[in-house]
Amino acid sequence: MDEADRASFLATFATIFETGEPAAVEVRLDGCGEGARRWFWIDMRPETSPAGAVIAVRGFCQEITDRKLALERIRFMTSHDPLTSLINRGHLLERLDQVLAEARRRRENVALLTFDIDDFKGINDLFGHSAADGVLREVAARISRQVRETDLVARVGGDEFVVVETGCEEPEIVEALARRLLRAIAEPITLADGREIAISASVGIALHPFDGMTSSALLAHSSQALHVTKKERPNSLGFYDATIQSEWQKRRVLEQDLRLALQHRELSLVYQPMICMRTTLCSGFEALLRWNSPVHGPVAPDLFIGLAESIGLMEEVGTWVLREACAEAARWSVPLTVAVNVSPIQIQQGDLAAIITDILRETGLPPSRLEIEVTESMLIRNFERAVDTLQRIKSLGVGISIDDFGTGYSSLATLRAFPFNKLKIDRSFVRDLAEESESLAIVNAVLGLGRGLRLPVVVEGVETERQADILRDCGADEIQGYLFGRPSPISTYSAITDAMRPQHRSISIQ
Ligand code: C2E
Ligand code: CA
Ligand code: CA
Repeated sequence: MDEADRASFLATFATIFETGEPAAVEVRLDGCGEGARRWFWIDMRPETSPAGAVIAVRGFCQEITDRKLALERIRFMTSHDPLTSLINRGHLLERLDQVLAEARRRRENVALLTFDIDDFKGINDLFGHSAADGVLREVAARISRQVRETDLVARVGGDEFVVVETGCEEPEIVEALARRLLRAIAEPITLADGREIAISASVGIALHPFDGMTSSALLAHSSQALHVTKKERPNSLGFYDATIQSEWQKRRVLEQDLRLALQHRELSLVYQPMICMRTTLCSGFEALLRWNSPVHGPVAPDLFIGLAESIGLMEEVGTWVLREACAEAARWSVPLTVAVNVSPIQIQQGDLAAIITDILRETGLPPSRLEIEVTESMLIRNFERAVDTLQRIKSLGVGISIDDFGTGYSSLATLRAFPFNKLKIDRSFVRDLAEESESLAIVNAVLGLGRGLRLPVVVEGVETERQADILRDCGADEIQGYLFGRPSPISTYSAITDAMRPQHRSISIQ
């Protein structure tokens, strides 16, 4: 009989003699028959003498091995991830509580490392689901090989893994483990069909007891550290730091308020003129989104647009921007164009071509007066889908500009596959235009590219006369910047949008 079971069996037996009450005990016998383990349930009842003393125990013994194994299997299934056989989130929480209690008793530290594969969605899109499953299994195996048998390894979400390392006295030791794990994950993986794939991961680390005492606090904090790391420098590690917490809370509040901003009419559009170099007339306006929150004040678009994308609000907000800008432009008496920025999310989800068709019909704006601005980053995800969507938008007669050109990493070949009408050079190249010949060389190169592809080139961020002069000499087609007008409410530009004579549209360029 198993050592511990023997003790409990004997104790139960003794208790029956003492109390005269029936009792039952479960025991495991090793090596009975075929060397397998078997479990038995022993029901014991006392037999008493006429004087009331227990003189014997009559037992009834039932084999429960099948039931026991079935239960074990169920317990395994409900506590483990079927794909990787690692423990799952629920079971991790259970085990972690025990580990933490034990660590506190021994006055030891515990490190909780949350891993996440960088751009796992991209792997899924590019290689397909079964290959992605293979990647997850391989990552699970590699992590398990790097840690001690006693450490916990769990898969807690789609591509998120948690490692719990006990008895690590120094942060340096945890850091070394994290680096070892990242290196192991980064080794090329050979897929079942022989293709090779290289992936990377990021990791956030929280330490018990410093960063939290409970399993849920530690999990939350290491996952916050992970998100910050992933955003700032993927393929690396980051420790939780209490300032993250306050940043995190601020972000949550901002997110909540952003969800209501549309209903509360806190979003608005401002417009910035674009100037045609040849005629020196205003050719149209770019619509730029503003959020003026009663609580947070004006929030930078780069910040809240990223937030809207991450909380799934961008489709709704983007559609609102399109409708608002088209309705506005339709009211102008001068048929100028309106350029609207479109987030990659709008191209990858929903049916942007259908949305634009509806909005143009609703507002009565001729398609030729609408331009949408997209960045190279929308090409990364689902190439075919992006091409298809843009092609359909273009066939409506709507113009498509590539924005922030020069900052992404599309190759010329990918660019040629897209139906663009215009290139917009990123404003970072204009900043040092006068002084630095390198920026000038880049601007010239892009202008040359534009001529080669027969695409007009817009230069944005023009702030000085000097920059405007240089750009005219280089042959830029359109320019935009504070020099000619800041992004402002459209009423500021009513002389242009509602001018009866073209010369009123002219904005002086020396
Ligand atoms: P962007 O599309 O590159 O917009 C141009 C940005 O340059 C605007 O910043 C504008 O205010 C700024 N700018 C214009 N002229 C000058 C200049 O002479 N000097 C300098 N230093 N800056 C100038 P803003 O309005 O803060 O917008 C930032 C970004 O937010 C935009 O960059 C765009 O990517 C995004 N964004 C703005 N509105 C929308 C929108 O409605 N939808 C989407 N998806 N994105 C938007
Ligand atoms: Ca833009
Ligand atoms: Ca831009």
